[in-house]
Amino acid sequence: MSGPRVLLFGGLDPTGGAGLFADLEALSAVGASGWGMATALTAQGPRGARSAEPVALATLSAQLRSLLDGARERPRAAKTGMLGTAAHAAALARWLSRPPLSRLPLVVDPVLRASSGLALFDAGRRSAGRALQPLLERATLATPNWPELELLAGRSLGSEEEAVRAARELPSRAVLVKGGHRNGPPVDVLVRGRRVIRIEGTRRPGTARGTGCRLASAVAGLLAGGIPLEEAVRRAKRVVELYLDRTLGAPGERG
Ligand code: PLP
Repeated sequence: MSGPRVLLFGGLDPTGGAGLFADLEALSAVGASGWGMATALTAQGPRGARSAEPVALATLSAQLRSLLDGARERPRAAKTGMLGTAAHAAALARWLSRPPLSRLPLVVDPVLRASSGLALFDAGRRSAGRALQPLLERATLATPNWPELELLAGRSLGSEEEAVRAARELPSRAVLVKGGHRNGPPVDVLVRGRRVIRIEGTRRPGTARGTGCRLASAVAGLLAGGIPLEEAVRRAKRVVELYLDRTLGAPGERG
């Protein structure tokens, strides 16, 4: 592996459709490389996600310390995906807010459940938004899809304007609201303070797993290489579209 390193924290999906293996593929597509730390082990296959077991926090911490201790190479960005529990999210927020990791660009993909239905984040007695708050405060970019943004905001969102308002309430420096779950052309909206940038895509016929993991990882890989945020998001979206074309076949009609 070559290219700038990204620290990845996410779940292990043995199929490689989503999770850390998918993250590594996306990094390699943008010329970056990764160190992947498992926050949880999952059991998944053709019939969907069946179970998930968070990795002990002591093990996660040992993974991180072992990687950094004596490393000749420094990570240039970090990305979180499936976290397992609120305690994992809180620990990561602490570790990523302290030197030597506190200056890294951080992409937080707020993974809450698998598309097949299994919950991948246990917020405990708090709401998902509360449980993820410290990590989102540290994030350069959060990448919720529409249902995730609704869960983080604690209300349903009918229009793009409502989604932009909800994105502005999140504490991360920028938010990319992914529009793939909505009808019509998939428009992703990058909200950065007062700026709102709409990025239109072309709807593919069908769906593939792990598109959110790949998008967030590709953005992190590009940020690791010094690419500015908006360009990184646009290029990462292309990477996911190429992945969809490879998995599903040729692009479909718009709409
Ligand atoms: N499994 C793991 C480990 C993940 O990180 C994710 C998503 O981020 C999923 C499953 C869910 O992927 P999908 O919604 O494509 O099933």
